[in-house]
Amino acid sequence: MDKTIYLDNAATTKIDKEVIKAMLPYLTDQYGNPSSIYSLARESKKAIESSREEVAKAINAKPNEIYFTSGGTESDNWAIKGIAFANENKGKHIITTNIEHHAVLHTCKYLKKYGFEVTYLPVKENGIVDINELRKAIREDTILISVMFANNEIGSIQPIKEIGKIAKEKGIYFHTDAVQAVGKIPIDVNELNIDLLSLSGHKLHGPKSIGALYIKNGVKISNMLHGGGQERKMRAGTENVPSIVGLGKAIEIATENINEKNEKIIELRDILINGLLEKIPDTILNGDREKRLPGNVNVCFKYIEGESILLMLDMKGVCASSGSACTSGSLEPSHVLLALGLEHEIAHGSLRLTLSKYNTQKDVKYLLEILPEIVQKLRDMSPLINQN
Ligand code: PLP
Repeated sequence: MDKTIYLDNAATTKIDKEVIKAMLPYLTDQYGNPSSIYSLARESKKAIESSREEVAKAINAKPNEIYFTSGGTESDNWAIKGIAFANENKGKHIITTNIEHHAVLHTCKYLKKYGFEVTYLPVKENGIVDINELRKAIREDTILISVMFANNEIGSIQPIKEIGKIAKEKGIYFHTDAVQAVGKIPIDVNELNIDLLSLSGHKLHGPKSIGALYIKNGVKISNMLHGGGQERKMRAGTENVPSIVGLGKAIEIATENINEKNEKIIELRDILINGLLEKIPDTILNGDREKRLPGNVNVCFKYIEGESILLMLDMKGVCASSGSACTSGSLEPSHVLLALGLEHEIAHGSLRLTLSKYNTQKDVKYLLEILPEIVQKLRDMSPLINQN
């Protein structure tokens, strides 16, 4: 195959041509600073506000509840630090999970230096939080629950509605990192009682380094960046107009007929999962079989290393991942896989394949042809298999 087969859509996605088309005027003739008062600038301002409406519509929020940021990492940082510092007089306890993205985990760790206490909820074998554990963890001084909507490695979807209900009953703010979920599954922040939600453009066929934080009206939060009066004085800095326009277009496309579009992706995912489990012995599926993102496949092949599989796949033109892109390069197995209770040796043999609307039956067929051979070749060389 001389073509690249891209199966790493949880790391980033190919930008949609329609998105580029929408952005182009704001990279060329429409360069006005949205804070200025002449008509060239007003065009930029108008474009930002129309994008804000699109983002709000996608999650059933109000436009004035959407704040543009530089991406998922900034949104997570802002939500957690912003709630912590604005509400520390009420309490200094935060609840999260041990499978969050590092944008959440490292932010929580940082807050410990300021006297905050963090409870990390464990997950069950299927990568889903136990609601009873959450109830038990809540204290008088809990000010925030931060649980991701869907996991970036194993695709498990959390019981967000139940968590939102509990948080509301207890008067605790609820943040969800929905970077992997927005544009992949339908989300309604009101129905789910979400107070803060992080999203990112490059995971939904939009540009990189653009995202948003939804902050429900009335939520007490401090701002992240200090400076000019942009984003209603909450997030200073001249707006990234072309990318904001791109995010608006990308989210509009991603959420249009979402269920219909998912059918095709789910079909490909299931062919891939079933094919791998059937064709390759000693293969474990990570994450829940049903409550998982439409495009997520994550498996462990016993006795071999994920990194070696990636190298061999790369030689065949396939882009995939072992653990998350942010942790690759490190020798430690993924914290998410370890949280499922997998042994280190098994977790090392993980492979994540994530599909998008651009993948085809042909891609999946090709992968199911080449992967059994690759795994066999590596197992033939593996010192681990010979011990058994
Ligand atoms: N949260 C999750 C669950 C993610 O998967 C990622 C990116 O991989 C992020 C946050 C960070 O988003 P960004 O790359 O936009 O900073």
